[in-house]
Amino acid sequence: MQIAFIGLGNMGGGMAANQAKAGRIVRAFDVSKDALDRAAAAGCVAAASAADAVKGANAVVTMLPSGAHVRAVYEADVLPNAEQGAMLIDCSTIDVETARAVAADAIKRAMRPADAPVSGGMSAANTGSLAFMVGCAEKDFTEIESVLAPMSRATIRAGDYGAGQAAKICNNMLLAISMIGVSEAFALAEKLNLDAGRFFEIASKSSGQCWSLTSYCPWPGVIEGTPASNGYKPGFATALMLKDLRLARDAARSTGAVSPLGEHAEELYANWVEAGQAHSDFSSIVELFRRGH
Ligand code: NAD
Repeated sequence: MQIAFIGLGNMGGGMAANQAKAGRIVRAFDVSKDALDRAAAAGCVAAASAADAVKGANAVVTMLPSGAHVRAVYEADVLPNAEQGAMLIDCSTIDVETARAVAADAIKRAMRPADAPVSGGMSAANTGSLAFMVGCAEKDFTEIESVLAPMSRATIRAGDYGAGQAAKICNNMLLAISMIGVSEAFALAEKLNLDAGRFFEIASKSSGQCWSLTSYCPWPGVIEGTPASNGYKPGFATALMLKDLRLARDAARSTGAVSPLGEHAEELYANWVEAGQAHSDFSSIVELFRRGH
């Protein structure tokens, strides 16, 4: 199988390396020479351009920063050069509207598109254990799943084109709200002189239990190995959470959905980025409540 891989950054670098490790021919491209050199050292073939990478590929995987990047690379390089029947799998986290628009353009050219954003950070990208949520035609899913297999611990079809991005945006809005909820509760518990470890034990067995509490507790020293217990080194950076909350806000506005807590979460994360915490883990938001501003 020949794969074109475009976007070899924090996530794409490890993902492309896992494709090469699985014995696939990976023609890789990134505008950053350093990223391209790292991919070549990991067994990929460095292509001269994105257009060059996609020629002859059975599948084109993109892992780019935003919807604007995806649209530009699709219009200039992928759509004019990919083979008919090629699978075009975008794993970036982008807006639903762009995902649907590039899918429609791909279908017009007899290509097979999918939006397949991921859950899991750099370490899951490096170890091939990402979760993929996929928006694609039902008939294409099995083949898309097999392309993603060397990078994946779970691949779930969310629905038709754009559904993968929709699932990602809704999940991350929920995650931000629950992380803020857990953080507020711990900050209040501290003011009430409640021991953090004892509160954790109680809430974990009570109705406040959730992933943000029991797997990713934002209070330092409560769970070993979390970003909170490691100086809030990401993990999942605050800037990326803010990006996803902005996608959720735009999606809510364009569909008329009511999501006041999602909007408030975006405001709080924007304040936290402004406070210089863009590169801290998103669970560091607890400090915003501890500091009281
Ligand atoms: P990154 O900035 O590290 O990597 C993006 C790469 O794309 C860079 O190497 C950049 O040079 C390259 N690029 C930009 N424009 C290009 C172009 N025109 N042609 C070729 N290459 C180009 O970002 P990342 O952390 O790898 O994230 C990628 C995507 O994955 C984002 O959409 C992000 O939201 C999503 N995501 C990230 C994480 C995470 O923890 N980092 C987790 C889940 C999802």
